Amino acid sequence: QAKAEGKGVARRFDPTQFAAAEQRRREEADLCRALDDGEFEVYYQPIVDLDGERTVGVEALVRWNHRERGMLPPAAFLDMAETLGLLPRLGGWVLEEACRQAAVWQAQAPGFELNVNLSASQLGNPALIDEVRAVLERTGLPPALLVLELTESVALVDLIESARVLGALKQLGVRIALDDFGTGFSSLSHLGTLPVDVVKIDKSFVQAMQESNGASVAEAVLQIARTFRLAPVAEGVEDATQASRLRELDCAQAQGYHFARPMPAVDLTALLTRQAALPA
Ligand code: C2E
Ligand code: MG
Ligand code: MG
Ligand code: MG
Repeated sequence: QAKAEGKGVARRFDPTQFAAAEQRRREEADLCRALDDGEFEVYYQPIVDLDGERTVGVEALVRWNHRERGMLPPAAFLDMAETLGLLPRLGGWVLEEACRQAAVWQAQAPGFELNVNLSASQLGNPALIDEVRAVLERTGLPPALLVLELTESVALVDLIESARVLGALKQLGVRIALDDFGTGFSSLSHLGTLPVDVVKIDKSFVQAMQESNGASVAEAVLQIARTFRLAPVAEGVEDATQASRLRELDCAQAQGYHFARPMPAVDLTALLTRQAALPA
């Protein structure tokens, strides 16, 4: 029956589908416009040293300050931006903006580190290495203070090519972090292949620590990091109990709402000012 309709024959009009497609086209146009209008903003979430709880660096997290809808999280637009091929441009902007800001923070906090997330399309872009080199030169941020984060699924689009690109990035002096570590089903096999320096322990492990067996799972994940000589950073730490358990498990660094939420650059500058006034 469907075949009999053939090509070029109008299908029965479906108002719901039509509205959804129309809505999508509007959102796409809106995203392109927002990039031109500079509606994106970089928020920064502190990464703390678990002994002493001092902020030693930040992760840059993009936000869309939409003129009508207000501040939007990445979940509301990143997938669409990636599908539309806009992430190399958006991600390039985030990288430059965050590096420029981190270079400014060096005056207040020498050695302060910056983590920036990379998307699949950025990693797959042959211009990435030159772009990172150029951004570091323009902003003056020392390469050793930049950590590029990627998830396993991003790295796995083309494992051999990823290993080559990450190797070239490391030649620039930057470090590589595997994000959401432990959530991919075959993480272990890639740790040997990819030139990674840091693993960000996924929040699901941190949040499962209170459950029975949860602590031993978190401990096992940390043990894997240690075996491969990778520096662990725990993500999604939401309370003091989780922080102290991680400390007991010798996890050096952590990130989460318990310490601080992602915040605009001005608020992070204020945080660094307060921290500088505290006794070391
Ligand atoms: P991610 O890289 O794993 O970043 C951590 C996410 O966890 C952030 O969500 C952060 O706000 C959230 N988070 C931090 N502490 C806690 C906590 O204690 N509890 C809970 N439940 N969540 C916490 P956000 O900012 O919504 O970003 C979501 C994801 O979007 C990021 O996950 C990252 O994959 C992606 N993303 C964000 N900014 C960029 C970017 O500039 N480029 C690319 N390619 N991806 C980005
Ligand atoms: Mg990340
Ligand atoms: Mg993560
Ligand atoms: Mg994530």
